[in-house]
Amino acid sequence: YNLLHDPLMMDTITVGVRLRPLVNDETGEVKWTVNEKSVSPIDSSASYEFDNVFGQDVVTETIFNEIAQPVVNDAVRGINGTIFAYGQTASGKTYTMMGDDKALGIIPLAILNLYDIIKKQVMRDFIVRVSYFELYNESITDLQNTSRTNLQLREGPGRLIVHNLTETECVTVADVLQVLVAGRNNRTVRETKMNTASSRSHAIFTIIIESKDISQDKDIVQVSCLNLVDLAGSEKASAAINQAEFKEGRSINLSLMTLTSVISKLSMKYDGHIQYRDSKLTRYLRHSLGGNSKTVIICNISPLALEESHSTLKFAQRAK
Ligand code: ADP
Ligand code: MG
Repeated sequence: YNLLHDPLMMDTITVGVRLRPLVNDETGEVKWTVNEKSVSPIDSSASYEFDNVFGQDVVTETIFNEIAQPVVNDAVRGINGTIFAYGQTASGKTYTMMGDDKALGIIPLAILNLYDIIKKQVMRDFIVRVSYFELYNESITDLQNTSRTNLQLREGPGRLIVHNLTETECVTVADVLQVLVAGRNNRTVRETKMNTASSRSHAIFTIIIESKDISQDKDIVQVSCLNLVDLAGSEKASAAINQAEFKEGRSINLSLMTLTSVISKLSMKYDGHIQYRDSKLTRYLRHSLGGNSKTVIICNISPLALEESHSTLKFAQRAK
C-alpha cells in the first residue's frame, strides 16, 4: 500500500497569495496584477499560478472562509493544523492574522468559528486551552507572562510542550480574545523595552482542543492543536548591516529557513530525512505539519515591492 498515493494524504498544504492594497500615505505604481488564479509583475507577461489568489479588494473574512476554515473544522475533529502568514516586513502578515479595528483577522475569525462549531457538537464535551509565545533569536518568551523567557521545548504526549508556558483554559470566545489581545500588547511593550523588532520574531498562538464523547463511559480523549503563526519578516539576512544584526538575522532565519525547507520537502512528498530538529519553530510544530495534519500558508506581498515579492512567490510556488 503506497501511503504517498493515499487520497487522505493529499492536499495537506494549501497556499494562498494575498496582495495588499496601498496603505497610509504610500504612493507609486502598483507593481503586481492579480487574476483569478495568477499573480504577475506588471512589467512582464510571466506569471505565478496558484489556486488561491487574493487581490487588493479581498477582505480577510473571504480568505478565512476559502482556505482557513477547513483547518478549524478539522481541528475540532482531532486533526492538528497550522496557519501561517508569510512575507516580508510590512506585507500585511499581522493585518492578515490579527486584523484591525475595521476588520477581524484570521485568528479572531478562527476563534469565533471554533466556538460556533463546538456549540453544535452536542454529543461531545470540549476543553479549550490557549498559549501564546514569541520566538526571537531561537528564544521562547511567554506572551501571557513575559517574565517567563528562554523556555525550553520538551517532548510531550503527541506533541511538543514548551516547559513552563502558560496554558489558559477558555470557556468562551471572550476568554480567548482576552489572551490574544493581552499577548499582543505584551509583545508591543516587550518590543519597546527590549529594543527587539517584532519583524524579526515569530508569534505563535496555539489553541489546544480536547474533547470526548459524552455518551461513552470510556475516557477516550481526543486532543488536537491549532497553531496560528505570524512569522518573522522573510527579507534576506544579507540586508543586515552590522555584525550583531547579522548574527541576530541569522538565528532568526534559522527557524524561518528551516521552516521553508521543511515545507518544500513536505510539499514534494519527499520521503527522506526532514530536518524538523534544526530549529525551535519546526520542532514545536512538527506534529502539526505534514503527516495527517493540515497546513495553510498565506503568502503576503506588498504592491510596491518587486524583488522581495518575487522571492515570496517563489517560496509559495515551492510550498504548494
Ligand atoms: P507585517 O506584519 O507583514 O509587517 P502589517 O500587517 O503590519 O505588515 O501591514 C503593514 C501596514 O499595512 C499596516 O498598517 C496594516 O494595517 C496595513 N495593511 C496590510 N494589509 C492590509 C489590507 N489588506 N488592507 C488594509 N490595510 C492593510
Ligand atoms: Mg507584523
